[in-house]
Amino acid sequence: MNTFTELGIHDNIVMGLTALGFQEPTPVQEQVIPQVLQHQHVDLISLAQTGTGKTAAFGVPLIQLTDTNKKHTQGLVLCPTRELCVQVARDLEAFSKNVKNIHILSVYGGARIDQQIQSLRKGVHIIIATPGRLKDLLTRKAVDLSRVSYVVFDEADEMLQMGFQDDLTAILAYTPKKKNTLLFSATMSKEVAAIASKYMSDPIELTIGTKNAGAANVRHEYYMVHPRDRYLALKRIVDNSPDNYSIVFCRTRRETGEIANKLVQDGYNADALHGDLSQVQRDQVMKKFRCKNLQILVATDVAARGLDVSDLTHVINYNLPDEISGYTHRSGRTGRAGRTGISVVIVIPQELYRIRLIERKIQKMFTQCSVPSGEDICKKQLLNMIDTVMQVEVDHGQIDPLYAEIAEKFTQLDREELVKRFVSLEFNRFLQYYKNAPDLNVSAKPQKQGRGNMIKGREYIRDSKPTQKFTRFNLNVGRRQGVMPQGLIGKINEIPDVGRIKIGKIDILRNSAVLEADSKYASQIIAAFQRSEINGKTVAIEVSKSPHSTGPKRGQRTKTSHRNRRKSIS
Ligand code: ADP
Ligand code: MG
Repeated sequence: MNTFTELGIHDNIVMGLTALGFQEPTPVQEQVIPQVLQHQHVDLISLAQTGTGKTAAFGVPLIQLTDTNKKHTQGLVLCPTRELCVQVARDLEAFSKNVKNIHILSVYGGARIDQQIQSLRKGVHIIIATPGRLKDLLTRKAVDLSRVSYVVFDEADEMLQMGFQDDLTAILAYTPKKKNTLLFSATMSKEVAAIASKYMSDPIELTIGTKNAGAANVRHEYYMVHPRDRYLALKRIVDNSPDNYSIVFCRTRRETGEIANKLVQDGYNADALHGDLSQVQRDQVMKKFRCKNLQILVATDVAARGLDVSDLTHVINYNLPDEISGYTHRSGRTGRAGRTGISVVIVIPQELYRIRLIERKIQKMFTQCSVPSGEDICKKQLLNMIDTVMQVEVDHGQIDPLYAEIAEKFTQLDREELVKRFVSLEFNRFLQYYKNAPDLNVSAKPQKQGRGNMIKGREYIRDSKPTQKFTRFNLNVGRRQGVMPQGLIGKINEIPDVGRIKIGKIDILRNSAVLEADSKYASQIIAAFQRSEINGKTVAIEVSKSPHSTGPKRGQRTKTSHRNRRKSIS
């Protein structure tokens, strides 16, 4: 193992690193730093999971290679989010604490551009930027990249997944042809490979561990439940680990907000982090979470990007992300700094194949766990409470003078009764809640009709006469938007807290769909679909005004629903 000095880092920077507690370089730093320092020209790809120390791997050589006698911008770091920009800038400032006259600045959207322009005018050696804002600044001629020597793509896979390709192309057009490009990524997605072949010449590829591998000290677990039980399963998983400190990942902003709200209503110390919050709100939530005033953070992938929290007990996938690389990112948030973490996935039987895909990709097996029963949880909580009692510090100075009076009050109770009452004080909530709690586990075997309508293929169209009980809904999305019956059924099955909703006919047309379901739940169904997004299109749903007791033939029904759709749009 080399020291930073042996890698060629100057003393003034080593001092900054030591002050941060960096004694020795991490493997990524050991690989990358000499490559950058020793070569006149270097194009380099470094694949390593989150938490492996990539920031210093590029930040330290970038600082050392900066000529502070010159004023022009020499290094550019591109990051996917504002939070990451801020964090990278903060890290670079700390590394260069003892470097005189070096100017580092982060620029990102969501903050005042005029102030950023002013700061840039003073001369900045290293700019850390989100692609969108940097493009704006370039258009306004507030930045000069014509003499940049190093361009760094940080979290390249994430940046590309967020759709920054075009911005990157535009930005790179402002940089000189002769420069060094360093690309950092947790995964080698096809987008990353494409960018590398487009903008890098013959790059050195450095990998830590297996490509696309999850962090070594993360245990992967999944719990299989019925779609409508996702939330209940989440609560049980959390209740079963009394020292839980976790991020719960959801797919959409809306779901993030909903889950956080429900958790709060149910008495959990939770909050949401997503893109609809203002910067100030986001900063507040993150601060609360970092100092553990918040136990459960419910977040979208993007919002959780820049969050550097090292001792999470769990990462909980409320839903699986769309891409496998997303899972790697999520699970990489736990098991950091040498600790063991648990990455939990709540899956429904139809998603089991995705667990297998992930296993192949990360080359690690998942453990299937049973959703703990109410009894398990109560036992766990009870034992935890007893531990807490054993560990509590008694302030004898304060308590002793009162003891006689306390003892007097308790004379009626023997020891056993006293212990029971005392335990019940904290514990009744769990006993009450989990009394007669059902088993939430389901198996992957094909479900019998009836439990949740999880029927494959087209069998769902039972040509039953629509009865009073069914309401017909018109939706403004159809085959062209990729709508499938399973998708609609899935969404209905995921409506929480209502039990099984009976579904009748489903007809998917070119640009619309007709769906029949139990009238009792019409409002929940409308709420579930209305303004949700299906493949980029905002869904509008309405109750069909056409009578459906006559059971029209297929052709007629098509026309009817088509007309209704038109009406609903005008
Ligand atoms: P990545 O960008 O790979 O996700 P970071 O650069 O954010 O990782 O580093 C992850 C954590 O490890 C940070 O808290 C950082 O301060 C710490 N760290 C990085 N390098 C070292 C080192 N050489 N010694 C000790 N801690 C380090
Ligand atoms: Mg990083």
